[in-house]
Amino acid sequence: MSNIPKIVILGAGYGGILTAQRLQKELNYNEADVTLVNKHDYHYFTTHLHMPAAGTDKMENARVSISKLIDEFKIDFVKATVQQIRLQDKKVLLEDGSALSFDYLIIAMGGEPETFGIPGMAEHAMNIRSINSVRFIRQHIEFQFARYKRDQSRTECLTFVVGGAGFTGIEFVAELADRIPKLCKEYDVDPELVKIYNIEAAPSALPGFDPELVEYAMDVLKKKGVTFKIGTAIKECTPDGVIVGENEFIKAGTVVWTGGIRGNHMIEEAGFETMRGRVKVDEYLRAPGHDNIYIIGDNSLMFNPEGRPYPPTAQIAMQQGVTCAHNIVASIRNQQPKKFVFSNKGTVASLGKGEAIGVVGNRKFKGFIAAQLKKAVDIRYLFIIGGIPLVLKKGKFF
Ligand code: FAD
Ligand code: NAD
Repeated sequence: MSNIPKIVILGAGYGGILTAQRLQKELNYNEADVTLVNKHDYHYFTTHLHMPAAGTDKMENARVSISKLIDEFKIDFVKATVQQIRLQDKKVLLEDGSALSFDYLIIAMGGEPETFGIPGMAEHAMNIRSINSVRFIRQHIEFQFARYKRDQSRTECLTFVVGGAGFTGIEFVAELADRIPKLCKEYDVDPELVKIYNIEAAPSALPGFDPELVEYAMDVLKKKGVTFKIGTAIKECTPDGVIVGENEFIKAGTVVWTGGIRGNHMIEEAGFETMRGRVKVDEYLRAPGHDNIYIIGDNSLMFNPEGRPYPPTAQIAMQQGVTCAHNIVASIRNQQPKKFVFSNKGTVASLGKGEAIGVVGNRKFKGFIAAQLKKAVDIRYLFIIGGIPLVLKKGKFF
């Protein structure tokens, strides 16, 4: 039996893929066994999911086969759903009953919707989290139009509620507003009958983001037909709509919850101390008390020099993947690990076709230029993980 270290990576999202690719590059032949475990045999671009969710782009453009991203001679890919992490046994249990043992573990399974215990939210609202979850939203939206046409007393079928005006809510509502006129045409529906609500509990949409750009974004979206309810919390979600603010009921055929995320439930279940399901990792990305366990991406919690938590983004997950791989190789070679230092490349958010907002360094961007910037960011990612072939295959759709 081989006694080289076993490295197991859980999740092939932004953090997991970058870790796998870096390990593949940095490890020498026979220096370690690397296994990458993921629920699906594809990697999906979460940052693109608002488009297929609304139906403004094809599902296929938001994913790529994992076999195209890794060298399977160097990395064992296991398509499986992780069911349990057993720290004491140094094992990961998979859904089919099998187990993987590890010397080093990287947990990169991404976030889960945070419902804050709002009654009915987990049961009745939809989420933008994966290819399967957005497939469902897309089909559901079309179904609402078909349903309305069969029984035109059901005007609630044409009411869409998006709960939370963070970046996910804003990007989705923008795509939805772009898609509605096409659906109205296809289903012979008067566009005046369609209502799109974006409901936000905080005193502003995109809380904490540049106020001038927030105002710009809201103006663009209002012109596209979005009604904002700001400073209005969703209190309950029912099968027929949402209860907001002081007991106002909004009857709606579609409720999409974009109110935030938390870490993967398996992390808490494994016995790690968490805050909203995320583990406060050390500067080398290791879980407290476990020098061989690294937690990255949406499952990890790190603070900026001012003591505020970094928001969970693809950007930080990717950078953590690179440092994590470096530190595991260093550990195997008895070398010094590197501290993780986040390099903020900026934030750019889409507002639908040809429109976006962004801050890069201390420069602000809006409109067409920001939309081009958003494309450039997405294409850069394709290049990082898949080189020119992936850019040529998917880049034109971004
Ligand atoms: P993920 O990328 O979510 O990957 C987790 C992986 O683990 C997935 O492949 C999943 O299938 C797999 N997995 C989960 N559970 C299991 C299990 N039990 N067993 C096996 N595999 C499992 N961030 C930005 O920086 N820029 C953006 O423009 C941006 N846009 C976004 C747009 C939307 C609509 C959304 C929802 C998020 C956006 N984000 C953006 C945030 C970003 O997508 C996340 O922060 C990022 O995906 C986190 O990466 P991760 O590696 O932690 O997890
Ligand atoms: P988020 O936590 O950033 O935003 C959720 C929003 O929902 C908040 O504004 C919050 O006040 C609101 N909310 C919470 N409870 C509510 C309630 N009961 N009623 C109404 N509103 C409520 O979550 P997100 O938008 O999904 O973003 C998750 C992460 O992904 C963030 O770090 C974000 O920066 C990142 N992201 C980035 C981009 C981008 O860079 N283009 C796009 C999408 C997501």
